[in-house]
Formats: sequence, C-alpha cells, structure tokens
Amino acid sequence: MNLYKLNPLKEWTCDVCSEVISDTNSTWLEWETNDTTNNDENFRLVHQECKRSSTDSDFTLKDLYLYRVVGQDGLAKLLNTLEHLNLHNLEDFTEIIRRLHLPYYEEARQYLSKARSSGDYRSTEITEKDCKNIISEYAKETI
Ligand SMILES: [Zn+2]
Repeated sequence: MNLYKLNPLKEWTCDVCSEVISDTNSTWLEWETNDTTNNDENFRLVHQECKRSSTDSDFTLKDLYLYRVVGQDGLAKLLNTLEHLNLHNLEDFTEIIRRLHLPYYEEARQYLSKARSSGDYRSTEITEKDCKNIISEYAKETI
C-alpha cells in the first residue's frame, strides 16, 4: 500500500484503489443499506470510477458527492444524514466524520495501526495534535 502526504481536509485516500482523492466534485461518500437488516453500512470514500454498481440485490447503494460533506456545511450535512441513518456500528460513521473533518486525521490514519500496536493512541479520542504527532513519529520510519 502506498503511503501519502495528504493536504489536510482537501485530500483523502480512496477506499477501493488506495490512490489519492483530491477533487471533491467527482468523488463520493457511498454506503449500502442492507435490504435484509435495513442497516446502513460499508461507508467508503471513493473515486467516480471506483464506485460500486447497484446491481447487487442484497443492498441498496446510497451516496453523496464529496463536496457536499466537506467544510462547515458538509459537517451540517453529515450530522443531518447521521440522524436519518440506521447504524449497527456508530463508529462506522464517526470514522467518516473524522476523516472528512479532523485535520491531519486522514494522513495519520495510514500509521494508526502501527501507532496502536506500539501502545499509543488506543483511544478513539484523537486530536489534531495527536494526528500531527503520529505523522511526525511514524511517517519518517516508512517513507
Ligand atoms: Zn479509487
């Protein structure tokens, strides 16, 4: 997997191809509503070409353009969306909010499992400062 230095709150990595997402007009937050359980799940940030097709009959594909869920209005949109979701795991969606709205989280996320296996940052309460620390500590070891 490639590791990237990412522009905070402007670049993300695609959950399908792992390449950088930098254009919010042609990229998506997509997820599935399970037709059996009615749960909303499998939230992903993806390029247009990496989007799933909705031919699978086990779920209904839902999506929002990325530009609609970034910035201040984007946070308002995500919170409103959250109120209408049926979530089995709340963390599935709070992770998306962190990725889209916590500065440096998306870049730090690439090193989070390594940091956690070293005993650091076990809590999900991660701040912008924590993210910067993770990047400065762990990115240099791998890049
Ligand atoms: Zn992609």
